[in-house]
Amino acid sequence: MNEAATTAIRIEKTQQSRLGEVDYDNLKFGQVFADHMLVAEYANGHWEDVSIVPYGNLSLSPATSALHYGQAIFEGLKAYKFDNGAVSIFRPDQNHARFNKSALRLEMPEVPEEVFIGGLKALIGLDRDWVPQTAGASLYIRPFMIGTEAALGVHPSDSYKFIIITGPVGAYYNKPLRLKVETRFTRAAEGGVGFSKNAGNYALSLHPTRLAQDEGFDQLMWTDAKEHKYVEEAGTANLVFRVGDTIITPSADTILHGITRRTIIEIARHWGYQAEERKVSVRELVDGIKNGSVTEAFAAGTAATLTPISEIGYEGQIYTLPDPDEREFSNKVLRYLNDLRYGRIADEFGWNFMV
Ligand code: PMP
Repeated sequence: MNEAATTAIRIEKTQQSRLGEVDYDNLKFGQVFADHMLVAEYANGHWEDVSIVPYGNLSLSPATSALHYGQAIFEGLKAYKFDNGAVSIFRPDQNHARFNKSALRLEMPEVPEEVFIGGLKALIGLDRDWVPQTAGASLYIRPFMIGTEAALGVHPSDSYKFIIITGPVGAYYNKPLRLKVETRFTRAAEGGVGFSKNAGNYALSLHPTRLAQDEGFDQLMWTDAKEHKYVEEAGTANLVFRVGDTIITPSADTILHGITRRTIIEIARHWGYQAEERKVSVRELVDGIKNGSVTEAFAAGTAATLTPISEIGYEGQIYTLPDPDEREFSNKVLRYLNDLRYGRIADEFGWNFMV
């Protein structure tokens, strides 16, 4: 796949790899970056000059439009190393599709498959030694795009940079989560940009999240903008619940349509569970925890993987969920996902893109 396009990528290798400096036993999320990055430039209505160069600083005009008006979108996905040393990227086609949806909503150009998927394969192929083999670790991949026109005035940028950086990571969360149901601040409203992965969605989350953290919570559980009655998603992950034998995940145009969430729903259906994507009211959730019908709850995301939710705070009350070790579906699906991503079982869905 993408042979023609990948050969069009200019490659400038680093003189001195930094791989030897990495402490693979103490990987923190997003702190260490691999030797190379991919940079593609958009100008005059098309993508040109796709190159892989040593990881390093950018030089930008202070008038760069993304810095002022926020045309900035990104993705997050991971590459895994199999026990036999092979490297695979998990479902990059889904990230590519979501990236282009974000681009369209922010009036930015789409990135073609040969640049996005072909670029990923070429870059990770070159830096394959950076993909960790230790349990639970992976190479986090961050494709992003910014408007680069050096001019003030609110209008779509006439030029863009598409960049991919990567870095080895361990777990994002290392303990079950305490989430606070947010009923004052809003992440996204209907007709807005909640479904897109743009920088602004994260900037606006920082203050409400910090307030919740001051109260002892790890993250927020966002609710709908109109009534704050329906749960939507967590700060950097989607929400999944189990009620009886049904797996339920909130559905709305205001949430980010997570690839982990979709993957888990597809596996659940394949296994014969009922799986529903629908509105979930805060009432349904807290009543279900109280009466014992909600037996499992977790945050699902690329960085978070699948992190159990231990407690939910709502209107000053704390609702405690069953012991994470006792959660049948969560533990089973996490084990299955890990086996699939690390190539220990057959890839029956065709989700591993080999590098
Ligand atoms: N919601 C938000 C706000 C996120 O940032 C993420 C992480 N990308 C997710 C959900 C989960 O999406 P995915 O499973 O594709 O990582």
